[in-house]
Amino acid sequence: MPNADSVHLKGDFKDIEDKKHRAVYETLADSDKKLQYFSARQIACRLLGSRGYLCQKCWLPMEDCMCAKLGSCNLWQGIQFWLYMHPKDFLRQNNTGKLLWQVFGIQAAHLCLFGIQEHEDIMWDAFQRSGKGKVSFLYPNKSTTPMSVKDLKFNGLTLSCDHHEEDVKDGPFNFVLLDGTWSNSAALYRRLKERWTAIWREEDIPCISLSTLSASVMHKLRPQPAWDRTCTAAAAAGLLWELDMRSELSAFEFGKQAEAVECSLDVLLDALTARRLRLGRSITRKQRHNTNCI
Ligand SMILES: [Zn+2]
Repeated sequence: MPNADSVHLKGDFKDIEDKKHRAVYETLADSDKKLQYFSARQIACRLLGSRGYLCQKCWLPMEDCMCAKLGSCNLWQGIQFWLYMHPKDFLRQNNTGKLLWQVFGIQAAHLCLFGIQEHEDIMWDAFQRSGKGKVSFLYPNKSTTPMSVKDLKFNGLTLSCDHHEEDVKDGPFNFVLLDGTWSNSAALYRRLKERWTAIWREEDIPCISLSTLSASVMHKLRPQPAWDRTCTAAAAAGLLWELDMRSELSAFEFGKQAEAVECSLDVLLDALTARRLRLGRSITRKQRHNTNCI
């Protein structure tokens, strides 16, 4: 049975498209070109398959659109979020990364799709403008020098990792969230590491871990639908709470920003729950586990 919520292409059209796709794919020699082609095609198919069905902003079916219920909030201008997202998570109803740009706006929380060269170039250009001392990947620490939010330096104006002055420029601090299931996030991480090493000639990519994964969000989450304790938005809220705990940053009201993310998670959860109930689906049914890496 095809899933009614699927945003994939179906039937004959899908077969013809798949054949064309394989033919083009075979002609691509370079593995990076193959990956780019694969990502672009997957995104195009999801866009086509969801047209007229999903709200293009909140990625929920039109009749369950939650956009009107979401509040907005200003993210402190000294930081930016980058959602590095696997194409498989693009337009997924229960994706939570999308909440960040819905709450903070696309100037503060950017979507960067894995394998889409234009997106990736924009992101890496931003990193280079801010300097390598102002980039951190929220990922289980593999660095030789593990970092947490309390290790970030604050000079009265900007945040940075412990780096030489020449590595810290004027731009905002960039927090990168890997938005994909556990199995996909390894590929996301590998690609980020490759480019980091190519640009800065360093093997060690600056990862940051959360010490307290925002307990307040966790209490509110009910075990449905397809929810995970460590979803991307909850990780972002956790990061903001940890910034809020640093007294020298209190003027930037990170607590308020963390709460705004938690509220948006509640709205998404309510929308997904209402949808499942309306469709007569169990709200406790076990679904494919979507474990995130954070
Ligand atoms: Zn919507």
